[in-house]
Amino acid sequence: MPERTNAMKSNRQRRKEITEKRRDSRDRHDAERNRRSAERRAMLPEGAVAVNEVLLARANSYTVPDFVARGYYLDRPFTCRECGREEVWTATQQKWWYEVAKGDRLAVAVRCRPCRRREQARAAAARKVHQEGIAARTRS
Ligand SMILES: [Zn+2]
Repeated sequence: MPERTNAMKSNRQRRKEITEKRRDSRDRHDAERNRRSAERRAMLPEGAVAVNEVLLARANSYTVPDFVARGYYLDRPFTCRECGREEVWTATQQKWWYEVAKGDRLAVAVRCRPCRRREQARAAAARKVHQEGIAARTRS
């Protein structure tokens, strides 16, 4: 018996074959993507935390931060701008800042925790004085 050619197959049969082929290809792509991200995770150096680019704040510049280029956060040692203390901005804290707080992707920690607190309090006090000044001027 001769093999059925495409022309002899019913439309329904052909549609079924196309759908199956598409599904196979999609499954293969998903498997490939999962394999690659598992591979990337396995290759992360000690203490590294993977970047989820989708969660980053929108870029305001074409500059690509090092953690985006690399694909993971690493603990960042820095010297506090106020008191000169040696501090570490941890990979986990960076992930929170960039992906949860949606911080600017080019901003980095420059103050230790106590100095940051003091700076926040100072800025809040300055804002209050400024607003009171505006209120006083509006009253008179
Ligand atoms: Zn400090």
